[in-house]
Amino acid sequence: ATPTAILVGTGRGAQLGVLIRGPEILESTRRVDTVVLDKTGTVTEGRMRVVDVWSTGTRQPQAEPVEPVEPVETDDANHLTDAPDVLRYAAAVESLSEHPIASAIAAAGRAGGEPDTETPLEVTGFIAHPGGGVEGLVRRAHSGLALGGALNTRRVLVGRVDWLTEQGITVPEEVRTAVGQQERAGATAVAVAWNGAAGGVIALRDPAKPTSAPAVAELRELGLRPYLLTGDSEGAARVAAQAVGIPDADVFARVLPADKAAVVARLQAEGRTVAMVGDGVNDAAALATADLGLAMGTGTDVAIEASDITLVRGDLRAAASAVRLSRKTLRVIK
Ligand code: ADP
Ligand code: MG
Repeated sequence: ATPTAILVGTGRGAQLGVLIRGPEILESTRRVDTVVLDKTGTVTEGRMRVVDVWSTGTRQPQAEPVEPVEPVETDDANHLTDAPDVLRYAAAVESLSEHPIASAIAAAGRAGGEPDTETPLEVTGFIAHPGGGVEGLVRRAHSGLALGGALNTRRVLVGRVDWLTEQGITVPEEVRTAVGQQERAGATAVAVAWNGAAGGVIALRDPAKPTSAPAVAELRELGLRPYLLTGDSEGAARVAAQAVGIPDADVFARVLPADKAAVVARLQAEGRTVAMVGDGVNDAAALATADLGLAMGTGTDVAIEASDITLVRGDLRAAASAVRLSRKTLRVIK
C-alpha cells in the first residue's frame, strides 16, 4: 500500500498544480519548518512597471521658464541629459536582458516611441551583471561617417548605485538622493550612467500577487515561518513584505545572487529545515541548497531544474498545498 499511497499523493499534487520530482520528495516536504520566499516574480508579479524617469538635466530648479530649444546634433558626451533620452538609452541596453527590471524599461522605451528626430539606437558589447545591472555600447544607427559613429558611441550602464560605483562610475549626490527617495517609498530604483557618470534614475514598481498574502497566512497556519529574500533594496523589500504579512525582522534585502544560498545555509545551521521558493536564475543555488526547493512554473528553466517541486501556475498557495499533501499522504502510509 505504501508505494500506492505515494503515487496517489504525487498524482493529487499534479491536480493541485504541484509537480513533485519524485515520491521521496514528500518526506522532505513534510519536514520543512521554514520557508524562504524570493521577492521578485515569486511574491510579486515579477512584471515591473516604470513609474518615474528622472534625470539630472530635467528637474533643475529654473528661475524663469525657458523656451524649448531645438535639439542640437552634437558629439558632446553629455548630450544625453533629458529624461526621454535616459529612458531611450537605458531601454536600448535593457532590451538585451531578461531581468524583470529590463523588460519593464524596454517596454517603457517602446511605449515612448522613436521620436522622428532621432535615429534608432544600436547596442554592441552587451554584458549582464547578475544582481548589479547591465552595460552596453550604444550608438545611433546610420550615424553617417564612421568617425561620427565612433564619437557618438556611449558606454551606458543601468543598475544599482553600489554596483555602478564598483564599476568606476561617478554617482553624484543628487542621483543617490533620488534613488534613496524612491526606495524609501517602496519602489525599485536603478541609476542610468553614460560615459563614466550617472545622470538618470528610473523607478519601477512590482505589486504583490493577490495570491501571495493568503499563501503566507496558510504557510504560517501550517507552522512554517516565512522569510522574504531579495537582491532589491530594503525599502522595496519591506513594502513587499508588509503587503503579504512578513515582519521587517524576517526580511533579507540587498542579497547578491551568490549570497542567497548562504542565507538558506545560515537558517539550516540554526537547525531549521528550510524550503526555498524562487523563480530566477539568481535563485538556483539557494533552491539547490535548501532542504526543499520549489520553483515557480512561470519562472526560468534554471530555477525549475534546481528544484524538487514546481508550482505550475506560479501561485504561492500551491506551496501550502504541497505541505498539506505530504502530511496527509505520509500519514496514510504510517
Ligand atoms: P531579485 O532578488 O529581487 O530578483 P536581483 O538579484 O536579480 O533581484 O537584482 C538585484 C538588483 O540588481 C536589482 O534590484 C537592480 O538594482 C540590479 N539589477 C539586476 N539586474 C538588472 C538589470 N537588468 N537592470 C538594472 N538593474 C539590475
Ligand atoms: Mg525572482
